[in-house]
Amino acid sequence: MKRQPLKVGFDLDGVLLYNPARIFRPVIVFFKQLFLPEEKDKFHLPKTGLEKFIWWILHKSSFMPAPGLKDIESLVEKKQIKAYIVSARYESLKSDFNSWIKKIGVNKYFSGIYYNNNDEQPHLFKENMINKLKLDIFVEDNWDIVSHLFRKTKSEIFWIYNLFDRKIIYKNKFSSLKKALLKINSMIN
Ligand SMILES: [Mg+2]
Repeated sequence: MKRQPLKVGFDLDGVLLYNPARIFRPVIVFFKQLFLPEEKDKFHLPKTGLEKFIWWILHKSSFMPAPGLKDIESLVEKKQIKAYIVSARYESLKSDFNSWIKKIGVNKYFSGIYYNNNDEQPHLFKENMINKLKLDIFVEDNWDIVSHLFRKTKSEIFWIYNLFDRKIIYKNKFSSLKKALLKINSMIN
């Protein structure tokens, strides 16, 4: 058993918010290699008004709270975990971010809620935050970010995978937030 409470960080889009659009990640990577080869290893940062609008529409598809939020609340109440949100959402999505935080009511029981207000590269922002907060576990849905954090942090990176990426071999992979929380529960009890 690890020391308690465990410090557990959660990504927002695709983890705390269920996002059907995340199954398109491999498709987006493919088109990016085709049209933006110079950005192959980077995440595209929306610059023009149109791009920001498209980004906003994509994020609008993160439309429902994921099953499992109640389980996080009860783990926090039992003082078994301390929960954090580390989202790499860009500054242009701030008001949408805040309204989701309000809607899912997490500010009452989460110890810290962070988003990418300086528009850093998402994987670097998350790496820095995980190290700064000294998280024991971080739950993330984007495979590109998982594979970066796995190499660059000491935290255990839990991956919530999607249909197209399911063949990737990785130790801590889960089909849903609920399943990831079951594993966290088993580490505590
Ligand atoms: Mg995500």
